[in-house]
Amino acid sequence: MNKNLSLLILTLILSLLVMGCSEKNTFIDWTYPNGKYKALIMSYDDGLVDDIALAQLFDRYGIVGTFHLNSGFLDTKAIWNEGKTNEVLQTYLSTDTLQHVFKNHEIAVHGTYHKALVGLSDEEILEEINVDIENLTALSNNKISSMSYAFGSTNENVADVISTTQLTNARTVKASYNFELPQNYYLWNPTCHDNEALDYLEEYISLNSPTLSLFYVWGHSWEFRDTLRNENILKFCNEIGNRDDIWYTGAGAFADYHASLKALEITDKEITNPKGNGVVYFNEKGQLKSLDPGKRLIR
Ligand SMILES: [Zn+2]
Repeated sequence: MNKNLSLLILTLILSLLVMGCSEKNTFIDWTYPNGKYKALIMSYDDGLVDDIALAQLFDRYGIVGTFHLNSGFLDTKAIWNEGKTNEVLQTYLSTDTLQHVFKNHEIAVHGTYHKALVGLSDEEILEEINVDIENLTALSNNKISSMSYAFGSTNENVADVISTTQLTNARTVKASYNFELPQNYYLWNPTCHDNEALDYLEEYISLNSPTLSLFYVWGHSWEFRDTLRNENILKFCNEIGNRDDIWYTGAGAFADYHASLKALEITDKEITNPKGNGVVYFNEKGQLKSLDPGKRLIR
């Protein structure tokens, strides 16, 4: 057989195989709101006064933080024993400053009293989380929809219990080391802790793909009392902030948008955005378009 013909047949077979393996073709180039394909979530735990400087840093760079608070400790000080002789006085945020400090950010749950949830009964888990939701709802201007697990303490059962609350997502402390969207929003593994974020910075900034991706970083603002750690977060925000190709968002808004995309009714011929769903966005020949709830796209 002619060598070129063999090569052509081989290429055709490989193409068919690749097409067969790919996900169901939605015939649409979905984007995040405002036409972006990349997103950044910065998720910070514990609600100490160090959050104030971090929120201000995020403000300078157009970054949206998700701040997880223990509402039972707000307005108090505490001694944290960080080793045999190293006791640290920690000051929690005051309730009357929350709306001001987090004006551009998301306020979220970390448990009323920072309890490890594994080992608690379902009722105790719900008490720890629902009271935090109630308190934070009263103190904030935003709908409370996100949480992070104190001590990273979670498992399938805990996640199932959390999914019965009004929360739409809950973050673990297990690094995924990738930029993929999560499979389970109640066991949402971030990309990495901020002490490893610089290792992934250049890769994400140079990423240029029409596929939805997410760089999800977590940490504690009180760790930035360390000079080197503080320099690193300044560098990170300076590099990744104020960019045209990244959607800076809280975890709740991100989970809502992805849920809207997943709720679309897709057939080979048309796509319907069901009533009550969110607006979704797509790119058509370089133009940003949207599909409102109750509307349909015909191929
Ligand atoms: Zn914590």
